Amino acid sequence: MTESVQQPIKSFADPRAKKYREAAREWIDATLPRQWQSGPRPDFEEEIRRRREWDRLMAVGGYAGIVWSREYGGRGEGPIEEYLFYQEATRAHAPNTANAIGLDLTGPALMEFGTAAQRARFLPRIISAEHLWCEGLSEPNAGSDLAAVATRAEKVEGGWRIHGQKIWTSRAQFADWIFLAVKTSDGPRRRNLSVMMVDMHQPGIVVQPINQISEGAEFNQVFFDGAFAADDQLLGVENKGWEIIGLSGFRQRRRIFDAVRWYVLIGETLDQLAHCVAATQWRYRQQLIDLQARAAALRWHMMRTTELMAQDADWLHSTQVLRLEWSELWQAITECGFATGCESHEDYWRFRYLDTRSVTIHGGTAQIQRNLIADRVLELPR
Ligand SMILES: Cc1cc2nc3c(=O)[nH]c(=O)nc-3n(C[C@H](O)[C@H](O)[C@H](O)COP(=O)(O)OP(=O)(O)OC[C@H]3O[C@@H](n4cnc5c(N)ncnc54)[C@H](O)[C@@H]3O)c2cc1C
Repeated sequence: MTESVQQPIKSFADPRAKKYREAAREWIDATLPRQWQSGPRPDFEEEIRRRREWDRLMAVGGYAGIVWSREYGGRGEGPIEEYLFYQEATRAHAPNTANAIGLDLTGPALMEFGTAAQRARFLPRIISAEHLWCEGLSEPNAGSDLAAVATRAEKVEGGWRIHGQKIWTSRAQFADWIFLAVKTSDGPRRRNLSVMMVDMHQPGIVVQPINQISEGAEFNQVFFDGAFAADDQLLGVENKGWEIIGLSGFRQRRRIFDAVRWYVLIGETLDQLAHCVAATQWRYRQQLIDLQARAAALRWHMMRTTELMAQDADWLHSTQVLRLEWSELWQAITECGFATGCESHEDYWRFRYLDTRSVTIHGGTAQIQRNLIADRVLELPR
C-alpha cells in the first residue's frame, strides 16, 4: 500500500496550520538544549558550534528540508509549513541555520540546474548537515555590480584551474564547499560567467577572516591560486551562470524566510524598546507607536506573501518590497533604542545598532533593492 501524502497547506486559516505549529513547537521544545534558550549571548565560536549542531538536530528530526521534495530527503511540504516552523524555532531562541547557503541556495539550484549525478552526490550531504556551504559571489570590484566578477576559471585537462579573490564570504572558514561564480570567457557581460561547486579543502585556497564591527568574524576574504574544480563540478551550462546567480526564483524565495527568521527578533527588540521608552518618561512615544505600526504591517505582508507562494500565485514582487521593509524597520528600531540613552540597556542597544548595519547591505543593498522595485515591480521608465 502506498503512503498517503497530504497536500501542502495553502492558507493560514487552514486548521492544519494550527496543528502543524503545535507539533513543531513540541518537537523544538523536546529537542532544543535548555541552556541555549536562556542565559548570556554565546561568543562567536560557541554560536557557530550551536548553529551547526542545530542543523544536525533538524536533519535528524526531519525538519532540515521542509520544502525539499521527498525524493531528495525533504518533507515535501510548502512555504506555510516552513514559515510556521521557523517562527516557532526563533521564538524558542533556536539558533539560525549555519547552512542557509546549502539548504536555500545550492540545494534548490542543483534541483533546477544540476545533473542527476550531481544531485546524488551533493544533496544528501547538504540535507544531513554533513557539508557546510558558503557562497562566493562578491569581489572587491564586484558587489552590487555582480556581472563584473573577475575571478577566472581556465580550462585544463579534466576540469578548471581557478585564480582570483572573493570577499565578504560568510562562514567560508568553516565551509566544506563553495558555490562559486567565476569568469569562463571574454565574451559580453552576463554571458561570460559560470557557477562551479568547489571543494574548500584543497591547496590553492586561502581563507582570511574579516573582523566585524559588532563582534566575531563571520565573513572572510577567500583567495584562489590554482584551486581545481573537475568538469563535473560545473553547475548548468558553461558561460550561462548568470541565469543561476541572477535573481532567479529560488533566490527570491529565500527572502521571505529571512524575513520570518528576523521578524520574531524584530518583535523582541521592539518589546525592549517599549521598556526603554517608558524609562524615558515616554519621550519617544510617537516613534515607538510608528515602529509598532510598521511591525504589524510587516507581519501581514509576510503572511500574505507566504500564502501567495503556497498558492503558486504571483509573489515575486511582494518579496522584493518585503526585503526592504524588514531590514529598514529593524535598523529604525535599533536607532531609536540607542537614542533613548536608556542607561541599563546601553550595551544591548550598542550591539543591536552595530549588528543591524549589515541588514541593508547583504543580499543586495537597500539602494539596489529600490532600483529593482522601480524597474521590475513598478516598471518605471529609465
Ligand atoms: C553580513 C554580510 C554578509 C555577506 N555575505 C556574503 C556572502 O556570503 N557571499 C557573497 O558573495 N557576498 C556576501 N556579502 C556581500 C554583499 O552581497 C555585498 O556587500 C553587497 O552586494 C554590496 O556590494 P559591495 O559591498 O561591493 O558595495 P558596492 O556595490 O560597492 O556599493 C557601495 C554603495 O554604492 C551603492 N550603489 C552601488 N551601485 C549602485 C547603483 N547602481 N544604484 C544605486 N546605488 C548603488 C550601494 O547601494 C552601496 O551603498 C555579504 C555582505 C554582508 C554585509
